[in-house]
Amino acid sequence: KESSTRENNVAKIKVVVRKRPLNKKEISRKEEDIVSVCDNTYLTVHEPKLKELTFGFGAKVDLTAYVEKHEFCFDAVLDEHVSNDEVYRATVEPIIPTIFQRTKATCFAYGQTGCISASSLVFILSLLMHGLPERSGKTFTMQPLPLRAVEDLVRLLHHPTYRNQRFKLWLSFFEIYGGKLFDLLSDRKKLCMREDGRQQVCIVGLQEFEVSDVQIVKEYIERGNAARSTGSTGANEESSRSHAILQLAVKKHIEIKDSKRNNDGNEAKSGRVVGKISFIDLAGSERGADTTDNDRQTRIEGAEINKSLLALKECIRALDNDQIHIPFRGSKLTEVLRDSFVGNSRTVMISCISPNAGSCEHTLNTLRYADRVK
Ligand code: ADP
Ligand code: MG
Repeated sequence: KESSTRENNVAKIKVVVRKRPLNKKEISRKEEDIVSVCDNTYLTVHEPKLKELTFGFGAKVDLTAYVEKHEFCFDAVLDEHVSNDEVYRATVEPIIPTIFQRTKATCFAYGQTGCISASSLVFILSLLMHGLPERSGKTFTMQPLPLRAVEDLVRLLHHPTYRNQRFKLWLSFFEIYGGKLFDLLSDRKKLCMREDGRQQVCIVGLQEFEVSDVQIVKEYIERGNAARSTGSTGANEESSRSHAILQLAVKKHIEIKDSKRNNDGNEAKSGRVVGKISFIDLAGSERGADTTDNDRQTRIEGAEINKSLLALKECIRALDNDQIHIPFRGSKLTEVLRDSFVGNSRTVMISCISPNAGSCEHTLNTLRYADRVK
C-alpha cells in the first residue's frame, strides 16, 4: 500500500480534484450540496433534473424532479474539510526534490470562476432552476502553494547534498492575457518569447528575482497580484480572464567569465536552470465556453482561453502517452510551457469544484475536462 502511494506521488501526471465548502451565500439560499466525496479517489455528482411529462393530447408539463448520478475517479479527491496544507502535501510536496534532478514541473489550478454572461439564456434558465454559479476556489488553492514550495526548496538548498553546489532560487511572475505576455513584477511590461537551439523557452526581458525566504516571496506575490489585468468592467472578475504564471527556478550560479560565452540574456544573468516549477492559476474555465457574450473583446478572450485550455489538455495527454510530438504550438500558454512538456516533466492538475446545485453544469464540465486529461 505504502509503496503504491509513493509511486503515485511521483507520477508524471497527477489529477487531483478539490471540492470547496458551500459558502454563506449558498447556505442562505438553501442551496443543496450535490457533490459527495466517496473516498479519497472517488466522487459522485447528483445532478438535479426535471423530467418532461407528455400527455396524450400533446400538452407538456415540466414537473417531476429527479437526480442523475455522475461518478468520477481521480488520483486524489480532496473534500471540503481538507486544508491548504494538506493540498500541498497531496500535490506539490512530492515533486519538490525532483526539481534538483532536472525536472520541470507544472501545477495548474483549473475550474469555474463564477462569472457568466448575463446575456446568456442558459444562465437565466440555470438561475431559475438552481441559483447562481459561484467561484470554485482556484486562487484560494493556488496562492499558498508557492509559499510552501519555497520553504521546502530553501531547506533543500541548505541540505548537505546541495549546499556546495552554488544553487540559487529565482522567482518570476507573469500573465498571459488575450494571447500576450505581461511581466507582473515590472509594471506589466509586454514580453515576447524566444526559443533557443536546445528547445529551451526564453521569455525575453522577464524579470527574475533571487529569493531566499518566504516573506519576500509573499511580497512578490502580492505585488504581482495587484498588477494583474483589470479590464473595462474592473475588479476581480478580470483576473479570471488571464492565466497567471509564477515560476520558481533552481539555477546553478555561473561566474561572469563563464556566462560570457552564453549569449542567452536571461541565463547569463542568473545561471543555468537545474529545474523549475510553474504555478498556474488558469483563466476561469467557463470563460472559454462563454461565446454568447455580446462584448466583442470578451468573445475574443473567450476564444483564446478556449484555445489554451484545449491545447493544454492535448499536451498533457500527449505527455501521458509518451508521444514524441507534443502539440505545444496550439496556444501561447502551451508554447510558454514547452520546456515543461519535454524530457523530465511532472504535471499536477488541481481541478477546483463548487458543491452547489447552481454550479452543477460547470462542475460537470470541469470534471469531464480533468477526466480527459487523465
Ligand atoms: P476562483 O479563483 O476560482 O475564482 P477563489 O479562490 O477566489 O475562486 O474563491 C472564491 C471564494 O471562496 C473566496 O472567498 C475563497 O476564500 C473561498 N474558498 C474557496 N475555496 C475554499 C475552501 N476550500 N475553503 C474555504 N473557502 C474557500
Ligand atoms: Mg481566481
